[in-house]
Amino acid sequence: MHAALHALQNYRMVAPSHFYPIGKPGVAWGEAERAEWLSRADVKSRSYADDVLAQLEQFKSRFDVIQYGALSQDTQRYPLHVVKTRDFGVGANGDKPYILITGGTHGYETSGVLGALLFVQQHMEKSSAHYNIAVIPCVSPWSYECIQRWNAKAIDPNRQVHVYDLAPTRWCSDVTL
Ligand SMILES: [Zn+2]
Repeated sequence: MHAALHALQNYRMVAPSHFYPIGKPGVAWGEAERAEWLSRADVKSRSYADDVLAQLEQFKSRFDVIQYGALSQDTQRYPLHVVKTRDFGVGANGDKPYILITGGTHGYETSGVLGALLFVQQHMEKSSAHYNIAVIPCVSPWSYECIQRWNAKAIDPNRQVHVYDLAPTRWCSDVTL
């Protein structure tokens, strides 16, 4: 369903009848268009601190909560975390399969963020008997707060993973999950 939705959105973006108030049809956006888009999109409609960071605090008694980076646009407001099962890959755990769960690659996809948090809350401890599990509940927190698909640089994160500037992220260290 997700892939189908993306295909539909892509089709709409190139359809000749499509109207959009920023830029000109057939001309790639530059800095000016991206800045104009950001000025319209940067409307905080919900709180990353309340919805995600507060929950991560509660997980610390049962799991390892590790900050792996922060959004370069506001490192204080948008720290990025991974929640890992205890003794992740250590000793005998090295023989268990590894699972990575991510939510909020597209910040407006609320169910991914809330679903990842719900999994940690309700199922991760039991599942840790059989798996090493790492959960990144919200890859793109500015987009989560502003209910946007793109990040603040007007980049669609899942089209740009290879540039290593996902959210965009300033990495604290190499990501070793
Ligand atoms: Zn998506």
